[in-house]
Amino acid sequence: MAKCPVCQGAVDEAAAKAQTGMTPGGAKEVDPTMGTRQFHDGTWYYFDSLDCRNKFTRNPDGYLQGSA
Ligand SMILES: [Zn+2]
Repeated sequence: MAKCPVCQGAVDEAAAKAQTGMTPGGAKEVDPTMGTRQFHDGTWYYFDSLDCRNKFTRNPDGYLQGSA
């Protein structure tokens, strides 16, 4: 089980990766209420909500300090 680097909450990786739809352009769509993820510095990070991902996007190094 992945952990949200922002709030340390548990994230269901399978749900975050599950494809829920397709955009008209063919891009994969994921249900953001099921968790989300972001590729940063060679690693996928999983988040329990878009809110947490937005915080991480603004200051990734601040949330990754001490966890490496
Ligand atoms: Zn979180």
